[in-house]
Amino acid sequence: MSRIWNFSAGPAALPLPVLERAQRELLDWNSSGASVMEQSHRGKRFIAMTEQIEADLRELMGIPSDYAVLFLQGGATQHFAQIPMNLAGEGESADYIITGHWSEKAASEAAPYVRVNVAATSKADNYLRMPSHDTWHLDPKAAYVHIATNETIHGVEFEDVPRVGDVPLVADMSSNILSWPVDVSRYGLIYAGAQKNIGPSGLVLMIVRRDLLERQARPMAKIFRYAEHAANSSMLNTPNTWGWYLAGLTFQWLKENGGLQAMAERNRLKAALLYTAIDGSGGFYSNPVDPAVRSRMNVPFTLHDSALDSLFLQESEAAGLMALKGHKALGGMRASLYNAVPVEAVQTLVVFMHDFAARHG
Ligand code: PMP
Repeated sequence: MSRIWNFSAGPAALPLPVLERAQRELLDWNSSGASVMEQSHRGKRFIAMTEQIEADLRELMGIPSDYAVLFLQGGATQHFAQIPMNLAGEGESADYIITGHWSEKAASEAAPYVRVNVAATSKADNYLRMPSHDTWHLDPKAAYVHIATNETIHGVEFEDVPRVGDVPLVADMSSNILSWPVDVSRYGLIYAGAQKNIGPSGLVLMIVRRDLLERQARPMAKIFRYAEHAANSSMLNTPNTWGWYLAGLTFQWLKENGGLQAMAERNRLKAALLYTAIDGSGGFYSNPVDPAVRSRMNVPFTLHDSALDSLFLQESEAAGLMALKGHKALGGMRASLYNAVPVEAVQTLVVFMHDFAARHG
């Protein structure tokens, strides 16, 4: 078997022990004689599994009991629209903090359902830094404040939870959930597409304070209403059973590996290794993001001469280092360092980068 070092931004690397266990259990899950994908979500085994998964996640993240945990579908993008449908009534506004591609998209997808107030944006700085908190024009009457805690393309990340007063804070954590401990009680709603730190795509995790589920924002079909999903234990319709199962295996893997504190330490170390290599390359590589807000998860970087890009990609792939091509919005390279990417992968990348620079500098 030859597994690559996988720096994909998403769908991204999954922990090897999770994949191996899924492989072992594929044909006969939980002594049922069938795979987890081939049986009813209403069955006893499946329901017991989902209860265990929720308990594991609550333990990992310290989720208070006044929060519901939902396993939904539609990708994070669908929830860009569905969140305002659920949380904002007719004529209400919501504050959006725009720090990169994804928070910008969240705001534009929300616009048909809520009056979007761009309370702060770092667009004029090409999203290379966070808008300083004293420039935020927060509206105390806003239905909620929306942030993306980590910008997957631009590589900026909130270090702390922003202070937003009593207005519920809604956070897209798609690309840094479970990468470090978070104080869930500081948020009204947390959501994340699964395909980075949780499991396969097609599953969305949502953690929502129960009082927000009681907002009767507008008439809509049950399938769009989070309160209905909560009342039906995320089984209002047939869920993504395979994704849910794999998310559960990831949560168990996290528990067995020291939980979110241990992940935080490992992720800090990985990011430090790579940023140090970039900054110490004498300008061969560069990352222009304000060091105070550099993402630990997604590290975009450029080569001093873009004519070397294709050679870098060709040689890195030959060395087993995959998916380093940057997003087309920024060009250059991007290394994503999610939980499942081991320290050894980053060490291998850094050695390769050093060697490449020595040969082409
Ligand atoms: N938010 C963030 C921060 C993302 O990185 C992504 C996807 N890369 C999305 C939202 C959109 O997720 P999806 O494709 O699951 O809709």
